[in-house]
Amino acid sequence: MHEVDVIVIGAGAAGVAAARRLDAELSVVVLEARNRIGGRAWTLPHAGLPLDLGCGWLHSADENEWVAVAKTLGFVIDPTPPPWSRRAHQLNFSAADQEDFSDAWDRFDERVRAAARSLHDRPAADFLEPGGRWNALLDALSTYINGVELDQLSVQDFARYRNTGVNWRVARGYGALIEAYAAPLDVRLNCPATLIDHAARRLRVSTPRGTLDARAAIVTVPPTLIADGALRFAPALPAKQEAAAALPLGLADKAFLALDRPDDLPVQTRLFGAVDRTATGSYHVRPFGAPFIEGYFGGKLARELEQDDGFGVFAIDQLAALLGNDIRKRLHPIAASAWARDPHALGSYSYARVGCADRRAVLAAPVDDRLFFAGEACSIHDFSTAHGAYRSGVVAAEQVLHALRARLPQAAS
Ligand SMILES: Cc1cc2nc3c(=O)[nH]c(=O)nc-3n(C[C@H](O)[C@H](O)[C@H](O)COP(=O)(O)OP(=O)(O)OC[C@H]3O[C@@H](n4cnc5c(N)ncnc54)[C@H](O)[C@@H]3O)c2cc1C
Repeated sequence: MHEVDVIVIGAGAAGVAAARRLDAELSVVVLEARNRIGGRAWTLPHAGLPLDLGCGWLHSADENEWVAVAKTLGFVIDPTPPPWSRRAHQLNFSAADQEDFSDAWDRFDERVRAAARSLHDRPAADFLEPGGRWNALLDALSTYINGVELDQLSVQDFARYRNTGVNWRVARGYGALIEAYAAPLDVRLNCPATLIDHAARRLRVSTPRGTLDARAAIVTVPPTLIADGALRFAPALPAKQEAAAALPLGLADKAFLALDRPDDLPVQTRLFGAVDRTATGSYHVRPFGAPFIEGYFGGKLARELEQDDGFGVFAIDQLAALLGNDIRKRLHPIAASAWARDPHALGSYSYARVGCADRRAVLAAPVDDRLFFAGEACSIHDFSTAHGAYRSGVVAAEQVLHALRARLPQAAS
C-alpha cells in the first residue's frame, strides 16, 4: 500500500490513541521506528512480574481515559494509593521530619504557584527558602516529577500541570495496556519516518523501507527528535523546530532489583536513599507486594548513572547503607532503563525551558490542515503523562477528521 488517508508517525500512547480514533472511518497506517509498540510505555515481563520501565502510574486516575480502555480490555486496575501519598519508611526519615518536609513542600508549592501568575517566568529554584533544611530533597523530588532540577524548571509550566491526586496502577503493566489497545491497528515496526514532504497537496513520508503518500499525517515523535532533525520536514518548519527545542525531555530512569526473603521489609513503602541531597534514588519497596524493589532516579544523577550502567551498584550501595550489608546478598539487579540513551526518545518526559511554557501550543498547532502534531509535550495541562499523550492524540485525530471533511465531505463523514 503506497497511499492511505492518514499516516500516524509513532506508536506510543499518543499515536495509538490517534489511530484508534480514526481507524473505523479512514485508512490509517502507523509508522514506528522501534521493533515494538508503546514508546515510553514499555512493560518488560520478568518471571511473571510485569516491570514498567516507562510509565507505571495512571495519574489523575479518576479521569484518566486509559482506565476505561483497561476495563474494556479486561486489564485489572490496582487502586492501592501510591507510596508517595503515605508515610515513607522511617529508617532515615522520622515521622516528625516527614511532616516538616511535607509542610516545606506545601509552602514551596504555594510560592511557585503565586509566582506563576506573574507575566515574567522564573526558575522554580528562585522560590526555595534560603538555607531551607529540605531544599536538597525538594530538588530531588523535582528530578522525579519533572526530570530536571528546580533551577531548570519553569514556574509557569509547572503550575499549568493538572493533577487530581488519584493514582492507580495497571496490574499487568501500563505498557502492556497501551500495546493491547493497538492490536487492531496496521502498525509498521522498524519503520522510522525520516522526511515529511508537505510541499504538494498530498503528503509524502520517506522511510528506509520506501515512501508512503497520505492526505494527512499526525506526528507524535518526542520533541527531541524534531529538534535534532532526526525527523525532517520539506519545506522546513523552523517555528516547529524552535518550539521542540524549547521543550526538551527531562530524565527519569528506573531500576528493578529482585529481593530474596522479602518478608522483613514492608510492602508498598517508599524509602529515600538519602534525605539530605539531590542526587539520591527513591525506592518503592515491594510494589504490588511482589519480591522486588523499584528504584527511581532523576535529573543529573540519572544521566551520570546511565553512562556506565551504574543503577544497580548505586541502588545496592544506598540500600546497604540503610538496611545493613547483609542486604547485598539478597538484592539482584533485574533490569534498568536508559531513556536518555534511547535514540527514539532521548529522555523521559518533557519540561518547558524557563520562559517557554507557551511553546507547547506552538508545537501542537496544525500546519496547512494536513500536518498535525500530538504527544505528551503538546499537552498544556497533562504533559509528561500517558493520559496527556492519549488526549493529544485524540485532539489531533479530531482535527484530521474536521480537515478532511471540509476538503472532501464524503470521505470522512
Ligand atoms: C521512567 C518513566 C516513568 C514514567 N512514569 C509515568 C507515569 O507513572 N505515568 C504517566 O502517565 N506517565 C509516565 N511517564 C511518561 C509517559 O510514559 C509518556 O508521557 C508517554 O508514554 C509519552 O507518549 P507519547 O506517545 O507522547 O510519546 P512516545 O511514547 O515517545 O511515542 C512516540 C513514538 O514515536 C516513535 N518514533 C520516534 N521517532 C520516530 C520516527 N522517526 N518514525 C517513526 N516512529 C518514531 C518512538 O519509538 C515512540 O514509539 C513516564 C516516562 C518514563 C520514561
